[in-house]
Amino acid sequence: MPPQQFKARIEDRVIQNDKFFTISFELIEPGAMEFKAGQYVSIKVDAAGTRRSYSIASRPDINHGFELAIDVTPGGVGTTFLRDMPIGTEVEVLGPLGSFVIADDPTEKAIVLVGTGSGIAPLRSMLLDLLQVKQDTRPIILHWGIRFVESLFWENEFQDIVERFPNFKFHPVVSKAIDGWTLCRGRVTDCLSTHELPTEAGYYLCGGKPMIESVVKLLGERGIAPEHIHHEKFF
Ligand SMILES: Cc1cc2nc3c(=O)[nH]c(=O)nc-3n(C[C@H](O)[C@H](O)[C@H](O)COP(=O)(O)OP(=O)(O)OC[C@H]3O[C@@H](n4cnc5c(N)ncnc54)[C@H](O)[C@@H]3O)c2cc1C
Repeated sequence: MPPQQFKARIEDRVIQNDKFFTISFELIEPGAMEFKAGQYVSIKVDAAGTRRSYSIASRPDINHGFELAIDVTPGGVGTTFLRDMPIGTEVEVLGPLGSFVIADDPTEKAIVLVGTGSGIAPLRSMLLDLLQVKQDTRPIILHWGIRFVESLFWENEFQDIVERFPNFKFHPVVSKAIDGWTLCRGRVTDCLSTHELPTEAGYYLCGGKPMIESVVKLLGERGIAPEHIHHEKFF
């Protein structure tokens, strides 16, 4: 669908921890947005018309609104607006935007999602869409890198999905892990290096530029074809 201007209302905000909050919007006019999992919206965040982009984290079949996951640490006009505006505030939204979507490619026989920080947002939409909506039976593996264990959120939801869908594997990767953390430590590249990386698979990377560059390099060294590496750079 081509992007359109929408009026939306802030419906709810959940402070997940010191670093992240999630925020949901209800569309007012038009009342529904057809989007694909992985796409983003551009939100007007001040009276001067400044805009910031945010990936949709929710399922595309629930199209009367959308949910975002926001990292508060940048602390600029975008995060401050989304953090402070009262519930009920009306905002101007342009969407859907972007081409970071699951390829319609039968040679992608597995899907590997790799994100850091708020880069989990479009990957969650993809994951929920693939498993809960499309009942996709391909192996789907999520590697989510984060600095501190306390910053994880949605991990219970991902764990529930692991239990319900035997084709899904979840690897949280913590770079500053506390004693007793038994799962992956270090950077996402460290985690990826210790796992078998299927060659006939689509790799979907989302986060900051340094992570994307190092994962693309690693995947290239492991023989993954460039056309199977898709990415969205947040900053
Ligand atoms: C396609 C796209 C989708 C995006 N989706 C999301 C999303 O789902 N959630 C989200 O929190 N952000 C997302 N971003 C980043 C977002 O658009 C803003 O850049 C971010 O919220 C900072 O805006 P600001 O006005 O608060 O700070 P600014 O003053 O614009 O930026 C301050 C600094 O923070 C850095 N920065 C920007 N984003 C991040 C981040 N996520 N983590 C760490 N440092 C960052 C910038 O490089 C800049 O140096 C996305 C960006 C793009 C291009």
